[in-house]
Amino acid sequence: AMGLFDGKKGLVVGIANDHSIAWAITQQLFKEGAEIGFTHLPDKDAARPKNEKKVRKLVEPLGGKFVIPCDVTKDEDLDAVFKKTEEEFGKIDFVLHSVAFAPPADLTGPVYDVSRDGFKLSMEISAYSLIAMAGRAKPILNEGGSILTLSYLGGETVVPGYNLMGLCKAALESAVTYLAHELGPQGVRVNAVSAGPVKTVSASGVGDIKKMFQLYETFSPLRRNITAEEVGKASAFLLSDHASGISGEILHVDSGYHCMGAPPTDAFDK
Ligand code: NAD
Repeated sequence: AMGLFDGKKGLVVGIANDHSIAWAITQQLFKEGAEIGFTHLPDKDAARPKNEKKVRKLVEPLGGKFVIPCDVTKDEDLDAVFKKTEEEFGKIDFVLHSVAFAPPADLTGPVYDVSRDGFKLSMEISAYSLIAMAGRAKPILNEGGSILTLSYLGGETVVPGYNLMGLCKAALESAVTYLAHELGPQGVRVNAVSAGPVKTVSASGVGDIKKMFQLYETFSPLRRNITAEEVGKASAFLLSDHASGISGEILHVDSGYHCMGAPPTDAFDK
């Protein structure tokens, strides 16, 4: 069968397990014929490579080209990843960045209590890492190439509980626009999908996921939550040639929640 990603090659950073948004996106990319290399968070205990195993178990049956460790706070890891990517593929067509982290103590409290070190680390992993990857991807991205990251509405407006990660997403979304401007002349697009709540390891670190699901069910135009598969499909679209005219865009895959200025009045009838 003809696939949207036939002959397309790229890198996916951010699969932790089968709940990860990056995994939902990967499944769409594979379905459409992509060739993909992957990273995993380095394992602390080399004798028990849990992170590596989880990623390998998911991607190897589908034909993943390589799986190598990458801690985005380490320049040498990032250098190795893009060296490997170039060795394997030569030029590439897409890069998926699906990475975020904040220390729980800094993330769960008010922004006015965030520590200097917590702020630095959160911004480094959640925002700077996109910049670090874009700079290394630039020389090996084909014309028509596409970079995609994952964001959340809490970076645009206040979502109570999102706290420090909101500041990180604001920086990330700004980086998307500046990178779009800078890479556009070589034909490379940079976009973000702003997803509604999806049950993942990261999401459970950001407040009460059950209440977030209720919020979207009650207040979003579609009156339901989105699925990881829906994020996967919209993300694959932005990474594909179907989105060849789109750059610097933040595409909301959130049942329309972002467009509401006030709750629907029927939400109070229950
Ligand atoms: P996840 O926990 O499955 O994925 C987060 C990934 O970040 C993991 O693979 C983790 O290993 C990686 N990571 C953390 N620190 C790293 C480091 N130092 N180096 C390399 N990798 C590191 O959760 P997810 O929900 O799939 O998150 C993916 C992206 O989607 C994040 O940017 C997140 O903010 C965003 N997002 C998630 C939701 C949601 O509701 N789940 C909504 C909107 C946006």
